[in-house]
Amino acid sequence: YGSELYQVLEEEPGQATGWHGCGAIRLAVKPDEADWFKYVQGVLKLAGSECHLIGPDEIRKLHPLLDTKGVLLGAYTPNDGHTDPSGITNAMAAGARMRGAEIVRHNRVTNINLLDSGEWEVVTEQGTLTCEHVVNAAGSFAGQVGEMVGLQVPMVNMVHQYLVTESIPEVSALGKEIPVVRDPWASCYYRQEQQGLVIGPYEMNAEAWGLDGIDWSFDNALLPPDTQRLEPHLEKVTERIPGFADAG
Ligand SMILES: Cc1cc2nc3c(=O)[nH]c(=O)nc-3n(C[C@H](O)[C@H](O)[C@H](O)COP(=O)(O)OP(=O)(O)OC[C@H]3O[C@@H](n4cnc5c(N)ncnc54)[C@H](O)[C@@H]3O)c2cc1C
Repeated sequence: YGSELYQVLEEEPGQATGWHGCGAIRLAVKPDEADWFKYVQGVLKLAGSECHLIGPDEIRKLHPLLDTKGVLLGAYTPNDGHTDPSGITNAMAAGARMRGAEIVRHNRVTNINLLDSGEWEVVTEQGTLTCEHVVNAAGSFAGQVGEMVGLQVPMVNMVHQYLVTESIPEVSALGKEIPVVRDPWASCYYRQEQQGLVIGPYEMNAEAWGLDGIDWSFDNALLPPDTQRLEPHLEKVTERIPGFADAG
């Protein structure tokens, strides 16, 4: 759905979405993972979404940087890809405005009250609104917004770290963007960024953050890195993508 929507968004509001339709490969290294992808392929077929189960040779043809040691198969979704979140957000906002939505930026909701009429009074920095429905889409702040109406939103923020490499000669030599890869063995995702790579570990002992609330002024700031925690993942990545071992 997303990949189709992003293409329409490019055409309609004419706003670049930053969508890279490079495809994706999810690796299976255990028999139960391979079975799971067979099941997923069936579901995707019903949903009309293309998915091919491919062997190590074909995986390396699509992604020549990978060492497929221990890989049983890959679930290749050619219509998959990755995108830049701010580009997509702006394109969606432009599309919504074209369909009559009004978007007020830089205006924090400070309180939400239930009225006797059953409607909601939403207090913002720029005034108060009354509405039938309120959607809590406050991202990392969703817990704090939920608390405004006495709700405990069952989610926590987790710290996520990822690495962006400098240019890697093997990547520059490809001439075509490589698919995004999810690798359960290293518990990481890999994708191309310019002529280098982004390596994003799915950390097993990831750290929860902001459990007592986040300061409202927190905006796009980076947290201090803890690269030691990533070491077990990155050691495996150097085996999976040998070119990564010497990357800056
Ligand atoms: C560095 C980084 C890299 C990422 N990379 C990827 C990736 O490659 N792929 C992927 O799928 N996901 C990625 N993510 C995750 C993805 O960006 C988030 O899952 C997604 O943006 C969440 O969208 P959202 O709309 O729920 O929340 P957000 O995008 O966080 O939007 C919430 C909005 O609510 C606003 N808000 C909060 N409180 C209030 C209030 N009281 N009043 C008014 N407004 C309020 C905030 O200002 C914000 O604009 C990444 C995230 C980060 C931080």
